[in-house]
Amino acid sequence: MYFADEPEHIRLLRDSMRRFAEREMPPEAVRRWEREATSPPELFAKLAETGVCGLTVPEEFGGAGRDIVAAVAVIDELSQHGTAAAGPFIHCAFYGGLNISENGSEAQRHELLPKLARGELLMAYGLSEPNVGGDLPSVETTGRRSRDGQSVVINGTKRWCTAARIADYIICLLRSDAEAPRYRNLSLVLVPTEAPGITMSDLEHQGLRYTATCDVTFDDVEVPIANVLGGPEGWNRGWSVLAGPALDVEKLEITAVALGVATAALEEAWSYAQERRQFGQPICAHQSVRHALVEARTKLAASRHMLYHAAWLADQGRPCSVETSMAKLYVADTAVDIVIECQRVMGAYGCSGEFDMERHLRDITLMPIVGGSSRMQKNNIANRLGLPG
Ligand SMILES: Cc1cc2nc3c(=O)[nH]c(=O)nc-3n(C[C@H](O)[C@H](O)[C@H](O)COP(=O)(O)OP(=O)(O)OC[C@H]3O[C@@H](n4cnc5c(N)ncnc54)[C@H](O)[C@@H]3O)c2cc1C
Repeated sequence: MYFADEPEHIRLLRDSMRRFAEREMPPEAVRRWEREATSPPELFAKLAETGVCGLTVPEEFGGAGRDIVAAVAVIDELSQHGTAAAGPFIHCAFYGGLNISENGSEAQRHELLPKLARGELLMAYGLSEPNVGGDLPSVETTGRRSRDGQSVVINGTKRWCTAARIADYIICLLRSDAEAPRYRNLSLVLVPTEAPGITMSDLEHQGLRYTATCDVTFDDVEVPIANVLGGPEGWNRGWSVLAGPALDVEKLEITAVALGVATAALEEAWSYAQERRQFGQPICAHQSVRHALVEARTKLAASRHMLYHAAWLADQGRPCSVETSMAKLYVADTAVDIVIECQRVMGAYGCSGEFDMERHLRDITLMPIVGGSSRMQKNNIANRLGLPG
């Protein structure tokens, strides 16, 4: 679908992503990959050839310059065809390209950004742990400086580390100081997934099945101090990086997945309702079905405005922490409502393997949980707006 308010380059980008998905992601293959919780590396390699991985990387490092709206549109379009391409794109362009551009040291930017712009690196996030979900400042995985200060020794377990098996680095949130006060005792460290002392085990999960999500255990894993995000100066400053402007933008990518999945669900229900006949007419002629579809389309339009407005603010470098939290909260929750209603419109066929609706539902119900839950977004918004409590 095109939107009259979108600039020409975004329309062309949507066109190109749509053609890519039609060519490289046949629905049968997408269903098979999803069942197997995988996506073929060649698929992402072909996506990278289109140049989209450079959308979050400055031109001096081989990227196209920072264009958050365009990168969000890529996720939105690709997610309308499952998460097999959108997922790895996020791990490259957002967890990698955007994050390193904004938070990396000069050495990290020079080493990693050209590869990220070419789609040659993937990054996973290691934030959650068995005992830690929303309360991230309480992470228990430790990072200790070696005696000579030149390396970091990591011990502990990260949980739900999506893409750990296919990523080149895990960006780990570590408790790096046993004495320092809360929030000033944390570091983010780039840990190569090949480092000795790392073991992984897969966790079963219902949606976002473009790859495995894992428990990752670190047993005296040693990495150079230069791998602290932002360089050695980033030691004990992990929280200000994680909770700063970069995280404001990071909320947008899962919001874009929610919008893409809800869009696909609505398109499926919209066309099904015109073909399926009951009581002598297409079900879309029954007023309650008709109204359900139109309500879903209206909610989708509102969601789209919230997401792209927040992305535009981020592009302009304006403060956007409230707007990105509101977009994540509203779009994730609304997308769940949309998909549930679309499934009901399709009746039994909405639950069958013959259509994609059952996958859309499994994907969409994760959206208010992952990437900062809806309840946590409400806390963020209240705090940022200074509501006493
Ligand atoms: C498929 C999948 C992929 C994931 N991928 C990753 C990943 O790649 N990297 C990563 O680090 N994590 C990942 N996660 C973890 C995800 O980000 C967490 O699930 C999320 O942060 C919430 O943590 P939790 O589920 O442990 O919930 P908890 O923090 O235990 O919260 C449980 C419930 O209590 C509510 N709650 C908790 N605290 C508060 C509060 N202060 N106020 C109000 N309500 C509160 C929550 O909103 C939630 O409803 C993934 C999870 C899934 C399911």
